[in-house]
Amino acid sequence: MKILANDGISESGIEALNNAGFEVTTETVAQDNLIDEINKHNYVGILVRSATKVRKDIIDACPGLKLIGRGGVGMDNIDVAYAREKGLHVINTPAASSQSVAELVMGHLFSVSRGLYDAGLNMPTQGPDGFKSLKKKYGNGIELRGKKIGIIGFGRIGQATAKYALGCGMQVLPYDNHRTHTQIDLEINGKICSADLESVCMDKLLAESDFISLHVPAQKDGIAVLDTSEFSKMKKGVMIINAARGGVVNEDALISAIDSGIVSFAALDVFENEPNPREDLLKHPKIATTPHIGAATNEAQDRIGVELAEQISDLLS
Ligand code: NAD
Repeated sequence: MKILANDGISESGIEALNNAGFEVTTETVAQDNLIDEINKHNYVGILVRSATKVRKDIIDACPGLKLIGRGGVGMDNIDVAYAREKGLHVINTPAASSQSVAELVMGHLFSVSRGLYDAGLNMPTQGPDGFKSLKKKYGNGIELRGKKIGIIGFGRIGQATAKYALGCGMQVLPYDNHRTHTQIDLEINGKICSADLESVCMDKLLAESDFISLHVPAQKDGIAVLDTSEFSKMKKGVMIINAARGGVVNEDALISAIDSGIVSFAALDVFENEPNPREDLLKHPKIATTPHIGAATNEAQDRIGVELAEQISDLLS
């Protein structure tokens, strides 16, 4: 049986699938050619990350398709309910990348609080002659210890991020529309240290946070979780991190909030118009960007590949 891993899959995932008797193709097929290629090669499964979309048109036009697999969490690029209605298996690997996304968020936190991303851009060109002026430019960094981080969406990734933030001595203000209380277990030298965190209301989070990180899924109605009204309630100078999904922060409202001084910096891993994010965001001097790499670590990709292979093997073998 043949599987098309259209957005790639780790070597360990390919090996596990091969061992279970599946043939895996990792060549990327353009979105418009997918229907023809799936039918031509009799693929029984298609594996995607966030780039390839598996919509109703593909599900209807490819009767041989038995399984759609998402390497990662959010399945907003797949018509999940429709596929299941038509009898297809739809699987994902929700927990495999939480750690990696949380570490990227911490990287952005450290970066925006000390201007690291900007210094990295300017040092090669201005460093040789302008060392002193660059030193002055980045002379007003801030420490994370003692600061408040508001975490919107307190599921797997929100909680993984909270563990790092607590380890840095930050105060965590969680907000989740399905959760009021969460126990966070930190392992320190083999011993478990537990913290009980109460969710706060959104207004308190907005008013008090020095940093706000979002960990919600794409919202069903497409409505942004942070929009003009939310920005207007924030503490002046707040820094925003979005490694959740493009669209959960309204990009126009974010730029306005930066330009008016409410938000001092932002770091974005995800964009409304992926894979063609708007240039004014990418070039904004107060926005650090990464190209949707939250889950892009060897460890996460290994876990994703192996977990997908195990599920496919159970369902189709
Ligand atoms: P999860 O389901 O464990 O947690 C999401 C939480 O958000 C849930 O507890 C839910 O109740 C809460 N929530 C939903 N809408 C909300 C709202 N409007 N306000 C407050 N809380 C809300 O999911 P997760 O594993 O933590 O992943 C979160 C998201 O991270 C994914 O859906 C995906 O979009 C994103 N993600 C990004 C990357 C990346 O590469 N940057 C990688 C993996 C996941």
